[in-house]
Amino acid sequence: METVKVRIQGIVQGVGFRPNTYRIAKNLNINGYVRNLGNLVEIIAQGENINEFIESLSNEKPPVCKINSIEYENIDCNKMFYDFKILESSLNSSGTSVIPPDLGLCENCLKELRDKNNRRYRFPFIACTDCGPRFSVINSIPYDRNRTTMDDFPLCEECLIEYENPLDRRYHAEASCCDKCGPSLSLYNSESDEIFDTNPIKKAVELLDDGNIMAMKGIGGTHLVCKVTDDDIILNLRKRLNRPNQPFAIMSSDIETIKTFAEINELEENSLKSIESPIVVVKKNKNYSFPDSLAPILHNIGVILPHSPIHHLLFDYTTEPAYVMTSANIPGEPMLINNKDILNELNGIADYFLLHNRKIANRCDDSVIRYIDGKLSFIRRSRGYTPSPYNLKKYSNDLNVLALGSELDLTFTILKNGLGFVSQHIGNTNKFKTYQFLQDGIKHLSGITSTNNFDLIAVDMHPQFFTSSLGVELSEKYGAELQKIQHHHAHGAVLAFDNNVDELVFIGADGVGYGDDKVAWGGEILYSDIGSYERIASLSPQKIPGGDISTKYPARFLLSILYDVYDKEELRILFLNNYANFFKYGEKEINMVIKQLEKDFNVPITTSAGRVLDSISVALGICGKRTYEGEASMKLESIAYKSNNNLKIDLEFKKHGNRPVLDTTAILKQVIEMKNKGLNIKDIAKAAQDAVAIGLGKMAVDGANLKNIDVIGATGGVMYNEAISNSIKEHVEKQGFKFIRNNNSCAGDGSVSLGQAIISAYRKG
Ligand SMILES: [Zn+2]
Ligand SMILES: [Zn+2]
Ligand SMILES: [Zn+2]
Repeated sequence: METVKVRIQGIVQGVGFRPNTYRIAKNLNINGYVRNLGNLVEIIAQGENINEFIESLSNEKPPVCKINSIEYENIDCNKMFYDFKILESSLNSSGTSVIPPDLGLCENCLKELRDKNNRRYRFPFIACTDCGPRFSVINSIPYDRNRTTMDDFPLCEECLIEYENPLDRRYHAEASCCDKCGPSLSLYNSESDEIFDTNPIKKAVELLDDGNIMAMKGIGGTHLVCKVTDDDIILNLRKRLNRPNQPFAIMSSDIETIKTFAEINELEENSLKSIESPIVVVKKNKNYSFPDSLAPILHNIGVILPHSPIHHLLFDYTTEPAYVMTSANIPGEPMLINNKDILNELNGIADYFLLHNRKIANRCDDSVIRYIDGKLSFIRRSRGYTPSPYNLKKYSNDLNVLALGSELDLTFTILKNGLGFVSQHIGNTNKFKTYQFLQDGIKHLSGITSTNNFDLIAVDMHPQFFTSSLGVELSEKYGAELQKIQHHHAHGAVLAFDNNVDELVFIGADGVGYGDDKVAWGGEILYSDIGSYERIASLSPQKIPGGDISTKYPARFLLSILYDVYDKEELRILFLNNYANFFKYGEKEINMVIKQLEKDFNVPITTSAGRVLDSISVALGICGKRTYEGEASMKLESIAYKSNNNLKIDLEFKKHGNRPVLDTTAILKQVIEMKNKGLNIKDIAKAAQDAVAIGLGKMAVDGANLKNIDVIGATGGVMYNEAISNSIKEHVEKQGFKFIRNNNSCAGDGSVSLGQAIISAYRKG
C-alpha cells in the first residue's frame, strides 16, 4: 500500500486544517494521521487515492487557511494504518508558528445567528474554526484555549461535544462558546451603573437612535458609535473628542446600502466583504447626503461592513443607514480595551457603554485600505491582517531581527525564519502610553512567534526618537548588532520587496524623515539596491520656521517659501490681507516669522513634499490649520478632484550643490499669481498638485537614466494622494520606464519597520 509523508506550511494552525484533512481522508478512504508539528502540519497518508488526497488538501482547504508550501515524499512503511486520526499537537520549538489574525464572522455562523431554531440564535459571541477572534485573545502559544482569554469561559457540555468532534465545524475552535458558557454583554450609563435589560443590544440601538453616543467594546478593541444622519450629534462627538475634522469611518449593514451613497468598484466590494473586513476608503457618490461634518471637505469616506456578531445584531434593530464607528481612544493614545479604563477615560465622551467581560489580550485597530489605480494600498495594516507574515526568505532565512520603525504611525517588525511579522498599528510613540503599548506589543509578538533572542536591532537614524533609545537598550540586552536605517531608504526597500525588484530609482515623498545630512527629508529621489542608497535629487530645501509649529500652521511655511519672492513689506501685506487668520497670533506672528527668517533664527531646513502640499493648501485658503495628520493635503486632493481644467504651472529646476532640485518657491509663486488673477481654486489646486508630481517624476526619470535603471517607483505617505500617484505613473511610463508602487503594504510610515528589517537582514546576509 502506498504511504506518503506530507508537510504543509503557512497559516495552517487554528484554522480547522486538521479536521478538514480528517474529513477529506475519511471521504477518500485514506488512513494514517495528521498533527501540528511546530510551525507546520504533518500528515502520514496511506491508501489508494493518495494523489486525489493531496490535490484536495489545497483545493478544499478551510477559508482562513493559507498554504505557503506542500511537500510530500513516498516513505517505506511496514505499518498498516486502519483508521485516520488527529494526533495531539507537538511543539517543535525550532519552528515559527503562524497565528491567524482576527477574522470577520463567517457565512455559516451568520446563518446560525439569524436562525430562530439554532441554539446560538442572536448570541453576540458566536464563532467557529472559520471565524472570530485569534490574535486579540491569544496570550501565548501553542494556540490552545487555556492560553487564550477564552480560558475564563469553560465550555459547557454541548459546546464540549462540538469541540471534540472532528466532523464538527467547531472542532478545536478555541473561541467557540454559547450563551450558557460564553462571555456576556452589559450596558452601562455615564455613571458606570449597569442598565439591566434582557436584550442589551436592542436597548443600545434605541439609545443610539435617540441621539446618544455609545462606547462599544468589540473583538480587538473599542469603538465610539453614533448616528450618521444628525449633524448635531456628530459635531457633539467631535467636540467631546477634541477631534474637529478628522474623518470618521462609518459602518453599514450591507454593500447595497453603501452603494446608495458611495461609488464601489469590484475590488473595493471584495475587500469590504472579505474575512479581513477592513475600512475601505471609497468615493462619495452624487447621492451622498450625510452631513459634511462626517468627513469635512473630503471627496471620499471610510466605510466598513459588520465583522463581529455584535455589529450584525446592531443593524437588526435599526433603520439607520449607517453608524459612525471610530476607534475609542484619547487622541494620540492607544485604543482603550479594558472595561474600567473605558468607563473612566471615556466618561464625558460616551453617554452609554456596551461592554463585555472577555479580556482583550492584544488590541488591534481596524485596518484601513484604499485602492489606487487597482493596487491595494494599506493606510493602516492591522486587524484581519496582523500577524500574517510577509515572506522575506529572499533576504534572510536564519537571522532574528527586531525593527522598531520611526516615530509616528508606528509599527514594529519581527523577522524570524525568513518570515516578517509586522505588528498591528501602534501609533505615535512620542506619547507615553503608546510607547508602553509598543513595549507590550514587542513582548506579545515575540511570545507568539517564539522569539527569545535577536541578532539585529534596526532603528531609524533620528537620534532623538524614543524608538532609537529603546533600540540601544535592546541591542545591549540581546547582545545584538544595532543598525541605523535612513527613513526613505526603508520606504524604498518595502517598495522593492512588494514588486520583487532588487534595484530601483524611487520617489520617497512624505511628511518627514531624518536624512543623513541631519536635514528633514521628504521629497527625495533615491537610488537603492536594497542594502545601500544614494540621494540623487530632491525638492528645493526650504526653511521651516519653528519646525513642528509650521506643520500645524502651514501658513508659516508658506511665508518662508515666498520670502525671497517679494520685498518684506509686500510680503507682510500679502499675508496680512489673505492669511492673517491662519496664524495663531495673527499679525503679530506674521511679523515675528518675517523677523525669524531675516535673522535665520530657529529655521530648520526641510525638503518635505507633504509640507509643500500643505503650503499649497493654505495658499488657496483650503486648510489653514492642521488638526489631523495629512489634513491639508487630503483636502487639497479633494478640491482638485473636482477640476477638469488643464491649467499648467511651469517647472523650474536648479542645483543645490551637485544635486538637482525642483524649485518649490517657483510653484508657490505661480499659485499666488493664479489666485490673484481670480482663477478657480479647484483648477489651481489640480495644477499645483500636478506640478509637484511631474517635477518629482522628471527628476526620477533623469536619475534612472543616469543610473541606467529601468524601474521607477514612488512611495511615502504623499502617494496616498491618487492624483499625484497617477500623474507620476503617467509621466514615468510615457518616458518608457516601468512604474511600481506599494501593493499589499503601507505607502506610509506603517511599513517603515518592515523596510528596516529587510535592509538590515539583507546587509548581514
Ligand atoms: Zn464561523
Ligand atoms: Zn456552551
Ligand atoms: Zn515616511
